[in-house]
Amino acid sequence: MANPILHDELMRTALKELEQAVYNHDQWAETLYGTLICRSTPDERDISADAHHNCRFGQWYHKAGATILKNHPGYAEIGLEHERMHQYAISLLRASMQNVPISFKDYERFLTALKRLKLEIATVQNELQTALFNLDPLTGTPSRIGMLSGLREQLELVRRKHACAIAMMDLDHFKAINDKYGHVVGDKVLVGFAHYLMAHLRPYDKVFRYGGEEFLICLPDTDRQTACEIISRLLEELASLPFNADGKGEFHVTVSSGLTALDPDIPVEQSIDRADKALYAAKARGRNRVVVWDASMNDLPAEDAGEA
Ligand code: GH3
Ligand code: MG
Ligand code: MG
Repeated sequence: MANPILHDELMRTALKELEQAVYNHDQWAETLYGTLICRSTPDERDISADAHHNCRFGQWYHKAGATILKNHPGYAEIGLEHERMHQYAISLLRASMQNVPISFKDYERFLTALKRLKLEIATVQNELQTALFNLDPLTGTPSRIGMLSGLREQLELVRRKHACAIAMMDLDHFKAINDKYGHVVGDKVLVGFAHYLMAHLRPYDKVFRYGGEEFLICLPDTDRQTACEIISRLLEELASLPFNADGKGEFHVTVSSGLTALDPDIPVEQSIDRADKALYAAKARGRNRVVVWDASMNDLPAEDAGEA
C-alpha cells in the first residue's frame, strides 16, 4: 500500500527498461566469468572504485532508473546490492590479476550478492507487473482487484494502533453529464477527476476505482477528523475544477463522499459498507458534501441512510 502512485505509462517504461538493464547485467556477468576463467586482463572500468557507476546497468540505474524509479522503495535497495556486488567482483578480478588463488568463500560472497541483486530487481518487476495488471484502464487508478487485500493490510496496522480512514466518493448527477455532453466527455471527466485525486493526495494514500463513477480513497495514518478535513478540501477544489465540454464551453462537477475509520473489530467489507451508507446520506442531504458514518446509519439499507 505504501507504494507511490506510478502512472501506468511510467510503469510500462520502468518494466521495459528494467528488463533491458537486467539483460545488460547478465552480459556483464558473463564477461566477468570469462575474464576470471581465461585469466584475461579485466576492463579498467570493472576494477575502478566506482565500477558500479560504469557498467551498463549502473549507467542506466543512475540516469533513467533514477528518473522513473527513484520513489520506489526497492530502488535504493537495488543500488546498495549492485554496489556491494561490484565491490566483491573487484576483489575477484584483483586476485586473478595478481595470480592469487580465489578462495571459494570470496567467490560465494560475490555470488550471494549477485543473487540478492537479482532478487531485489525481480521483486520490483513483480510489483510493477502486479500493479499494472490491477490498474483500471480508463483512469490509471488501481482497480478493485487488489483493493481488499490492500485494505486488509491496513486493517492489520489499525489493529496495531495506527489510524486509517476510507472514503467512498461518487460523482454527482454523472448520468446527466453523459446525457448532456456525451460519453466521451464523461470519460474525460472520470480521468480528470481521478488524476486530480492522485496528484493531490499524499504519495502513500490510495485511490481505487470502485466501479462506474465511484472511487474508494484509503488514507493510512489518518484519523476520522483529519480525513474529513482532507476530503472536504478536495471536494471544494473538485467543484471549482473546470471541465471542457469538447468545444461547447466549460462545466463543473461536484462529488459526494461517505467517510469512516477502518474499524479494527470488523471485516474491511463492513467498513466499506459503512462508507457506502455515509455516501448515501451525503447524497440525500443535498450532495457536494462529505458525511462521516455514525452508528445511527448502521441498520438502515444504504438508500435510507440519509433520512436517518
Ligand atoms: P448521483 O448523484 O445520485 O450519483 O447520480 P448519478 O447520475 O451520478 O448516478 P447514476 O448511478 O444514476 O448514474 C451513474 C452514471 O455513470 C451512469 C453510467 O452510465 C455512468 N458511468 C459509469 N461508468 C462510466 C464510464 O466509465 N464512463 C462514462 N462516461 N460514464 C460512466
Ligand atoms: Mg453518481
Ligand atoms: Mg454511483
